[in-house]
Amino acid sequence: MSEEIEAYMDASRKLTDDDTFSFSCTPEKKCFTNCCHDLNLLLMPYDILILKNRLGITSGEFLKQYTSVHVGFESGLPVIMLKMEGPYLKCPFLEEGKGCTIYDARPGACRTYPLARMARRSKDMEGVEEFFFIVREPDCLGFKDGREWTVREWKQNEGLDEYNEMNDLFGELLQAKTEAGIKTLTADQIEIFYMGCYDVDSFRQNFLEGPNLERYMEDPAVIELISQDEKELLKYGMRWVNKKLFQGGCLACGSTGNACSTETS
Ligand code: SF4
Ligand code: SF4
Repeated sequence: MSEEIEAYMDASRKLTDDDTFSFSCTPEKKCFTNCCHDLNLLLMPYDILILKNRLGITSGEFLKQYTSVHVGFESGLPVIMLKMEGPYLKCPFLEEGKGCTIYDARPGACRTYPLARMARRSKDMEGVEEFFFIVREPDCLGFKDGREWTVREWKQNEGLDEYNEMNDLFGELLQAKTEAGIKTLTADQIEIFYMGCYDVDSFRQNFLEGPNLERYMEDPAVIELISQDEKELLKYGMRWVNKKLFQGGCLACGSTGNACSTETS
């Protein structure tokens, strides 16, 4: 069977947890680290949190040094791309001849390959329905002599569940925007989105440490939780954005539209 036909069949086959595929990526492969060049690597909110902690810098510093921001053509929302470097557009975390220097903190997209995940949600359903496709990059030799995996095993091996859980919260936010019928955001709204979803340290400073009245409207147990746990803070930040921009209200006082008297400073 030709490679084109195999790629076509993989792209049209939906996989769920018990389905199997063959793949193996090892340093011995001739293509090792080829895939860490010249790629459009979209970073999700949770990727940014994990990476900035791995590098020991703030989210603001991480975003400035390693990423570029674009406004999505269709979504009208800010999206964050990892900046490639040098003439060969190398991932900044790749050390030639050695591999990924932040492997334990690599983004969800690097963990998921050679799969791509689709998550479908509807109003009538709790949670999301997920399925996967195989993505065959043309020069990837991982499909040759690969070992067999179920999708479930791959997810466990790559530590994907926590990434997917956080990505699904982000997905909820995007769905809320669509349902609200909002096409584009103003510059101020883009700033709110950026801070709540991507710049968790600025959100902490603004919401938990600054003169922000919204904090006093929130349940003290919630404030305690998000003060102690950065992952919970990021979840809260995404819910805060959702409420503020797409559900027309304040997360803390529950007011809608312009009625909130606890606007962020
Ligand atoms: S191209 Fe495929 S097999 Fe080669 S290093 Fe990348 S993922 Fe692994
Ligand atoms: S983060 Fe690591 S695995 Fe992902 S593209 Fe960069 S070097 Fe490769």
